[in-house]
Amino acid sequence: MKLLEEKILRDGVAVNENILKVDSFINHQVDPELMIALGNELAEHFKDHGVTKIATIESSGIAPALACAMALGVPMIILKKQPSKTLNSDLYQTIVTSYTKGTSYELTLSSKYITADDHVLIIDDFLANGEAATGALRLIRKAHATIAGIGILIEKSFQPGREKLISQGIDVYSLARIKKMDKDYIEFCED
Ligand code: 5GP
Repeated sequence: MKLLEEKILRDGVAVNENILKVDSFINHQVDPELMIALGNELAEHFKDHGVTKIATIESSGIAPALACAMALGVPMIILKKQPSKTLNSDLYQTIVTSYTKGTSYELTLSSKYITADDHVLIIDDFLANGEAATGALRLIRKAHATIAGIGILIEKSFQPGREKLISQGIDVYSLARIKKMDKDYIEFCED
């Protein structure tokens, strides 16, 4: 998506060959108009997939996920990052390893907000190694709900996340796909 690629080139900061900072429009300060445009684009792609709910991982996925949920007319659920707790039968829980921080966290979803009838679209800000998305998939599958697809704002295509997900037959739609990057250099995939 040209709009997002241009924004990344203008305001994103490639720290090194692995980490892109987008604090000024996604991760810390949020550009609302851009988020609406990105949410609408994701909704356009997934509009015929029978989506009943959007799931996102707190916190950077919330803004585009809300915009997409508005466009599709479905609720949004936030998969919450919580410290490990004692077992609770009302919660689905799974451990995810954080790529950026090198730590693990517990991803949690209340059984009140998902049923086996749900067909869920997962939305997140970045796709890198696919750990966050895979954790979200595990939670949704624990609830016996089905997966409509995964919508990503920025995919680092040189990392293995996309392959892991599409090899499971999942529709992964990323609005910007980075082929290669380095300090102050970003190259997008052609397609
Ligand atoms: P994965 O689980 O696919 O390895 O990483 C996805 C998660 O890690 C995203 O939810 C995002 O929070 C974070 N992440 C991965 N790569 C980057 C990056 O280059 N920049 C930022 N800001 N976050 C990233």
